[in-house]
Amino acid sequence: MIQKNDEFTLEITDLGTNGEGIGKIEDSGVKAPAAGSSNGKIKAAHGSGKIGAPAARGDSKIEARVAHGGYTVFVKDALIGDKVRIKIIKAKKNYGYGRLMEIITPSPYRVKPPCPVARACGGCQIMHLDYKEQLRFKENKVHNLLERVGGLKDFQMLPILGMKEPYYYRNKAQFPVGKNKDGRIVMGFYAGRTHSIVDTRHCYIQHPLNEKLTQIIKDWMEKYSIQPYEENTGKGLVRHVLTRIGSTTGQVMVCLVINGNRLPQADALISQLTKVEGMTSICININRENTNVILGDQVRTLWGQPYITDYIGNIAYQISPLSFYQVNPGQTRVLYEKALEFADLKPGEVVWDLYCGIGTISLFLAQTASKVYGVEIVPQAIDDARNNARLNHMDNVEFFVGKAEEVLPREYEKNGIYADVIVVDPPRKGCDPSLLECMVKMAPKRIVYVSCDPATLARDLKYLSGNGYKVEKVQCVDMFGHSVHVETVALLTRKAQ
Ligand code: SAH
Repeated sequence: MIQKNDEFTLEITDLGTNGEGIGKIEDSGVKAPAAGSSNGKIKAAHGSGKIGAPAARGDSKIEARVAHGGYTVFVKDALIGDKVRIKIIKAKKNYGYGRLMEIITPSPYRVKPPCPVARACGGCQIMHLDYKEQLRFKENKVHNLLERVGGLKDFQMLPILGMKEPYYYRNKAQFPVGKNKDGRIVMGFYAGRTHSIVDTRHCYIQHPLNEKLTQIIKDWMEKYSIQPYEENTGKGLVRHVLTRIGSTTGQVMVCLVINGNRLPQADALISQLTKVEGMTSICININRENTNVILGDQVRTLWGQPYITDYIGNIAYQISPLSFYQVNPGQTRVLYEKALEFADLKPGEVVWDLYCGIGTISLFLAQTASKVYGVEIVPQAIDDARNNARLNHMDNVEFFVGKAEEVLPREYEKNGIYADVIVVDPPRKGCDPSLLECMVKMAPKRIVYVSCDPATLARDLKYLSGNGYKVEKVQCVDMFGHSVHVETVALLTRKAQ
């Protein structure tokens, strides 16, 4: 039995959802006799030690990881390829958590992160891993899940499309606001899995302009004694600062999320913020709830427009504070172009874009499709989608508000709708089984599945490949450099009946 305070050496062969290292103790009967001892009794795990070794398993459930024998240990700050000494801090029956005591042999892919707060900050979980290896890790993770969970064999895995420069790529930031021990205003990011704020002046993945914007807001709060919101007491005003910067237009939005109905000294803040080039929209979002959810439902514009505009390719999108919009515009274009290429639309073809958000993919497809139908659960997003269709003079798109798993079956049963191609881009939990069932009944020629969670992608592709579809190609796109997340697009074609 493995117990708390036991020590082991092991090789880290995988990374978990939060970037923690994962290794296995194959023979759980053998313990390290003393810290640092190497008298041969320490049993190391038999990881291959190679990065991207076939250790990547389902990352949404611990059970999926521990189901393959041995004792699985999760070790924060350890990296694929590291050989480490760990102390068990929490022991369950067949998995546990270890504290990193010593890196015996560092991974050949360990690098010094450029950001001095990379380890404390919860944003970039794997900045200490060489970027090329980050990509390899992500691609392998997807490939292994498709094989193991999806039971897929002969599909074409295209080489992952990474960023040329994986820095300063985000167009949206949400900074929590608080005070440090000395009572100074801090703004930055939460430390991993906590709500303590790491004051971040210069963030290596955010647009550099954020440094200026947050400084203006900090100075204004200090000068007028505007209090940050405190989670424990529910007192104070400013909760978060949301910024969005249009990558192609340079338009800037600043939205203060506040625990109140009005912003005191707003004019003083506006006069400073409007000096920033590109300032387009200054607004407040009202959130008076005792909740972790960042944004409330109400937005008020203090200055300028209630939205910014940005382009992906030739298409303009108006983005309001509450709308979902991909955070990495350069790679979003790469992703959407891939989705469009996979959809391989022929003249006259009809497409359904399910989980369409503000119609980003729908409008991309509408450039070549004869007709595109979008479905999305958030009514405000559909308002944006309809606006965006008008803005781009596209009249071959139609949007429905509702759950994809309700709208599609309803339209199919009642109105006998038809699709040549169905595109889905669900949130992490993947598609509802009833939606997949309806898609199979509708029998489109091609299905393009865009996914931000490879575990649910694998699950859904398994169903579709067992019900008349062949997974042809899979393409990973790195939208989130230095984090463990990855975006994937897959093409399925209908098998000859
Ligand atoms: N395709 C869009 C949005 C993808 S994010 C883009 O690339 O920008 C996933 C979207 O699915 C979100 O907008 C979310 O609001 C929506 N959503 C979540 N559950 C849904 C459901 N059951 N039916 C329809 N849309 C849903």
